[in-house]
Amino acid sequence: MKKVKAVSMISGGLDSALATKILIDLGVNVYGLHFILPWGCGDKPRSVGIAEQLKIPLKIIQLNEDFLEIVKNPRHGYGSAINPCVDCRIYNLKKAKRYMEEIDADFVATGEVLGQRPMSQMRHSLASVEKESGLKGCLLRPLCAKLLDPTDAEKEGKIDREKLHNFSGRSRSNLQQMGRELDIKNYTPTGGGCLLTDRNFARRIKDSFTYGYKNLDEIISLRWGRHVRINKHFKVILGRDEFENDKLVEHAEDDDFILELKDFQGPTAVLKGKSPDDKLLLTAASLVKRYSKFRNIDVVVSFWPIADKNCVRDFCPDAINELFLQKSKI
Ligand code: SF4
Repeated sequence: MKKVKAVSMISGGLDSALATKILIDLGVNVYGLHFILPWGCGDKPRSVGIAEQLKIPLKIIQLNEDFLEIVKNPRHGYGSAINPCVDCRIYNLKKAKRYMEEIDADFVATGEVLGQRPMSQMRHSLASVEKESGLKGCLLRPLCAKLLDPTDAEKEGKIDREKLHNFSGRSRSNLQQMGRELDIKNYTPTGGGCLLTDRNFARRIKDSFTYGYKNLDEIISLRWGRHVRINKHFKVILGRDEFENDKLVEHAEDDDFILELKDFQGPTAVLKGKSPDDKLLLTAASLVKRYSKFRNIDVVVSFWPIADKNCVRDFCPDAINELFLQKSKI
């Protein structure tokens, strides 16, 4: 007889590891699947570690530009910030379905718990996700299956429904207890979702959607630095420490400008926008001065186009207008 086969979504957290372990203990041949989202809930190194612990293969899928369309126009709306959790689940599960078909598995499993998350794990959301991902009857949630309609695998006797669970709500103590009993180790501590749930990050993404962006990399790099929109064509991003200074330069585009203090250490700034005039560059230089330790003395700020490091010019900026700054921070 063909062994029951399943694709199990692995995020690196406890719940997906538990769901997977339950299936393994029921004799299911499990194939792990992990998604790398640009700002995702998932944790690749921990997912790899969990797959090794559970001795299952793990396929890793990197999500790309098309995921941004979900963030821009989610059918099911946003959660607390710009997190389109229901659409995000549907998007991922559509890919999981394709993998299920590719390896001729019987169903897809997730570590979802009824009522654990306010947006994506309420009863109606779980039902929408199952239907719209095309996995009707083929989406098993071992941790709360007893509270949901039986899946095809349960109806057909491939999975013993009695061995599944009825966890619900936000409490984690029972799940943690089960994790200890099943000896699940080194999982990601429970987090509150991805960067899209962060209101500051959400503001920056909305700004980029309004005024334009070049590619996914530009959106990913929104996590670093202070962002100031000078006008609809130009934006300045300033590093808050050495790490961010390096990241901003690493992710700068060919037509961006870099600005730094000439004689002192301070923030590195990236000016985004095409062909800035001197007035614009002077404003950007004032921001570099404002966010340095030398805001009250005369300093020189050097700038150069990233494409030509030899084309350096210097400015002696004035203090920035604080009212303008307050209104322009993103
Ligand atoms: S928090 Fe929501 S939008 Fe973000 S990765 Fe998780 S499910 Fe997707």
